[in-house]
Amino acid sequence: MIELDGSEGEGGGQVLRTALSLSMATGRPFRIGRIRAGRSNPGLRRQHRTAVRAAAELTDAGVEGDELGSRDVTFRPGRSPRPGEYSFDTGGAGSATLVLQTLLPPLLRGGGSYRITVEGGTHNPSAPPYEFLERSWLPLLREIGADMDVELHRAGFFPGGGGRLVARVGPPSSPTPLVLRDRGELLDLRARSHIVGLPEHVAERELATVQAALEIRDDRLEAVDHGERPAGAANVLVVEVEFEAVTEVFTEHGRRGLPAEEVATRASRRVRRYMESDAAVWTHLADQLPVPLALRSGGRYRTGEPSSHTRTVLDVLRTFLDVAPEVEVAGTGTWEISVEDGHAA
Ligand code: ATP
Repeated sequence: MIELDGSEGEGGGQVLRTALSLSMATGRPFRIGRIRAGRSNPGLRRQHRTAVRAAAELTDAGVEGDELGSRDVTFRPGRSPRPGEYSFDTGGAGSATLVLQTLLPPLLRGGGSYRITVEGGTHNPSAPPYEFLERSWLPLLREIGADMDVELHRAGFFPGGGGRLVARVGPPSSPTPLVLRDRGELLDLRARSHIVGLPEHVAERELATVQAALEIRDDRLEAVDHGERPAGAANVLVVEVEFEAVTEVFTEHGRRGLPAEEVATRASRRVRRYMESDAAVWTHLADQLPVPLALRSGGRYRTGEPSSHTRTVLDVLRTFLDVAPEVEVAGTGTWEISVEDGHAA
């Protein structure tokens, strides 16, 4: 039984999700204590609980401690992920994208087909939005051999949730190591502003500001009005930067009291920092690649300074698999992370 301390490293849901993915893939049981101990709302939240229960359903796992607020979970997979159709609901605005990011990497090892529906938030703060999975993460997984895609059936925003994502998974093709040192030429820049229960001018002002800052073409701007929802107003600005080798997705959430122009300026500033760097992969994507790489093909990528999320994922990888990921300085402000294809340690 692998013992993990959920308060170590990043100390958030990341340790739990990474352990669930690796346990599903390797069949190794684990126990994690002190889950999210340093957070103001410690223990399992909806997103984490759904991830645990979904991982258990796919692998017939024995589970202890999977209720909301639990700080101690034991997970014993009973089999490798069973192909089939599944449907999970976070029961609120728990992040549906983070649940899918837990379930999909272990399926890179299997040979079956799956259809997985997850209901919850699709555009939450502190989680990848749907566009990130579709444009950034899954295309790279397809490069290493995955046959996976995801569709947005309905967007769900914090705090109401109510979104629906459907992932389709087929048997993977032969593994191809990822080598992502240079991002290549810039091919496209796009921006989309989602609004819920807000006047159209909020989206228009955001798009105009981001267009001026980043020189985006008129036909690459999109306002998506989701109408009124019972949980109230929401606004999310998503900027996609498509290079030959990788697409990066930047998100900024609007909130009451924050002018639309400021939302757009913050997003543009972050996009510019990425574009002015030599990194191929930016901060969030950098912590979401090690698990798929270790479970399929191995590979290496250049990024900015590794975050505590990334370092935490690499630590959990070392615990479950016989891998020795490397993090090396590759230039001023640039690091190269390499992860080999791993087997159960
Ligand atoms: P907590 O930290 O409260 O336990 P959590 O379980 O929801 O929360 P984290 O452990 O912080 O979440 O992990 C969040 C994940 O979402 C990380 O992989 C991070 O890179 C990713 N993420 C956060 N914001 C974005 C974003 N804007 N775009 C893409 N990915 C994001």
